[in-house]
Amino acid sequence: MSDQYNLESQEAVHTNVENEAVSLFKGKVLTSWETCNSFITEWARKRGFNIIKDRVHCKENVIRRRTYICEHGRNYETNSEKETSTKKILCKWHVNASCPKLKNPNSAIFINTIVDEHNHLLNVDAITFETEKKFSIEMIEDVKFLTQHCKMGSIAQMKYLEGKYPAHPIYKKDLYAIIRSFRPTTMSLMSDATQMSNWLDSQKEKDPR
Ligand SMILES: [Zn+2]
Repeated sequence: MSDQYNLESQEAVHTNVENEAVSLFKGKVLTSWETCNSFITEWARKRGFNIIKDRVHCKENVIRRRTYICEHGRNYETNSEKETSTKKILCKWHVNASCPKLKNPNSAIFINTIVDEHNHLLNVDAITFETEKKFSIEMIEDVKFLTQHCKMGSIAQMKYLEGKYPAHPIYKKDLYAIIRSFRPTTMSLMSDATQMSNWLDSQKEKDPR
């Protein structure tokens, strides 16, 4: 009983660390506009919508402020009278980010405002799609082969992929999702997930980062 409890609480700690890196919150700091752009784009895609880089404010050729809006948040100008008479309610989702000139020696980007509300449904199917997209087609083919032909478990597959693709970060959740799509037996996956978690904990002890 207590072992199971410890396992779950350790899992919760891991999840929190992952959440900090992948979540978007007021006051989050990013290293550059490029990082900020790709982070927000990816963050939004995982939630089933696309963003548009909207207003930008430059001073002395340096971007100081920028607004990101939802793809349904832009008011397209149109010459058609019919179009303009149709009342459109635009999505108000937006994020404001800034690169302050003062007290910011590394030109870091700060997330200042988040209005995380949409007036439309989000394409949740995109979440699964993006999860799989993190793996290259070659990697997904490997997982399919190892799962279906070799009946290889997730621990062995994790080791295999880390060895073959050392530059590619592999998250166990993503790997599970892909294995699950090729092997739909939930019971075997659950016991495998527990083994995987134990293995990851033992690796952390060996190599604390
Ligand atoms: Zn929206």
